[in-house]
Amino acid sequence: MGNAQQQGKIGADYAENQEWSHKGESSNLRSKFVAVEIPSRLIARAVDQMASLPGVGRRTALRLVLHMLRRSEDDVRRFSDALVAMREGVSACEICGNLSESDLCDICTTPGRTENLVAVVEDLRDLLAIEGTGHFRGRYHVLGGVISPMDGVGPGDLRIDSLVARVASGEIQEVIFALPTTMEGDTTAFYLNKRFSGHGVKVTSIARGVAVGDEIQYADDLTLIRSFEQRVLYSSSSKSNSDAS
Ligand SMILES: [Zn+2]
Repeated sequence: MGNAQQQGKIGADYAENQEWSHKGESSNLRSKFVAVEIPSRLIARAVDQMASLPGVGRRTALRLVLHMLRRSEDDVRRFSDALVAMREGVSACEICGNLSESDLCDICTTPGRTENLVAVVEDLRDLLAIEGTGHFRGRYHVLGGVISPMDGVGPGDLRIDSLVARVASGEIQEVIFALPTTMEGDTTAFYLNKRFSGHGVKVTSIARGVAVGDEIQYADDLTLIRSFEQRVLYSSSSKSNSDAS
């Protein structure tokens, strides 16, 4: 019967709510906040989803959800459709790991870019920052992170084998490390340089115009341009000290 079905559904949702109220004291407090203040299980479900985003706490999630509730149904549908379409239509470029709506990204398929010059970056935001300067006309390789034993990120978790394969194929003359000036960035560059040995590729690193400890993606355009213009030949000694010259 319809009524029983409805009851079962509500029961299931209730059980779901109960589940995250048993996860510990702090989440218990949060669930109380939600359970007491949210009058609708549909709203509670939307808050759960919103709060799963990085940096969004449950109070912020509730504020955003209530904002969405004030917008028209068409508006909200456009919002959710855009997310679904993005998730379904965007994937990593098969060559460089840049995000793309087809198998190969625009940068890898644009004629006129220097094919044999490849900048290695940590993630897409770094690529976008470098592209934003309009000064680099080579291509990229997006690692998807840097080696960080503390965070459990090893070479196997990154797009390193495909980079080594690109180098081994002979298509690349120069690899430019445009990695963060952090210990993890240095470790990654050191590891990659070792993997490239024997392939006869020129390996450079962008100049340390970017302050030590800073992220590439937060550097201003001028610093990024200068870093590229003053890039230096990478060697093991530049891992610990780049001021040798
Ligand atoms: Zn690509």
